Amino acid sequence: MRKNIFWTGGFDSTFRLLQLVEDVYVSDIHLYYISLDIDNVDGSDIGRRSIQNEISTMNSILNVIDKTKIKQFTIIGSSENLLYYSFQFQYSFMNYINRDKIEYSDINKVYFFDLFTIGIVLRPITQWGAITQILDDFDIKAEICLEKEGGIWSRIKKFVKDGQIQFEKMRGLKAFLRYEIPLFDVSRDTMIQISKKNKWDSVLEITWSCWYPINGTQCGKCFTCKRRPKL
Ligand SMILES: [Zn+2]
Repeated sequence: MRKNIFWTGGFDSTFRLLQLVEDVYVSDIHLYYISLDIDNVDGSDIGRRSIQNEISTMNSILNVIDKTKIKQFTIIGSSENLLYYSFQFQYSFMNYINRDKIEYSDINKVYFFDLFTIGIVLRPITQWGAITQILDDFDIKAEICLEKEGGIWSRIKKFVKDGQIQFEKMRGLKAFLRYEIPLFDVSRDTMIQISKKNKWDSVLEITWSCWYPINGTQCGKCFTCKRRPKL
């Protein structure tokens, strides 16, 4: 079985990747990472400033995990970023796609307008829109790890039952039709227990959580730093 997963080198998505690596029913793992201006706005408080940290973290993690099932790692970004990344990753499964911009299809514009109207997304152009559009463009479903109790997680929680989004509740929710959210209801404590049992601690210790690094180190103060589980 093939599994597609958006990976950032963070705790949750790395935990999930390790689960897939050890899952006997999974044979092919396709990793995806997006770096585009939509989620990295210069000088913006909402922009992620941790791209380079995430890239070097993912590289360190790939150095220490079993890569047998990893068939492709696709990085979608602007040409200058891709040049930088291609020096970082020395693996045959790397796949770089040059996209300077994501254009929403008409239906995704409608969905995200609906989501914006009821406050599920706080901006009409978001990384979620980009992920949705890329999944449509590739015609695939993929696993996404939402930051538990983070913005999008909290706002869609009421529409999720047993880890499944109830798409029929609202038109805009169909934007997430291609999302699989396996860790939606999994607590941090459960993840830590599973990690310890499987001896994944040493890998999870090198994951990167911080959105706003200071001099290349994790700030300890931002939302994701505060939420980072203590192993
Ligand atoms: Zn931080």
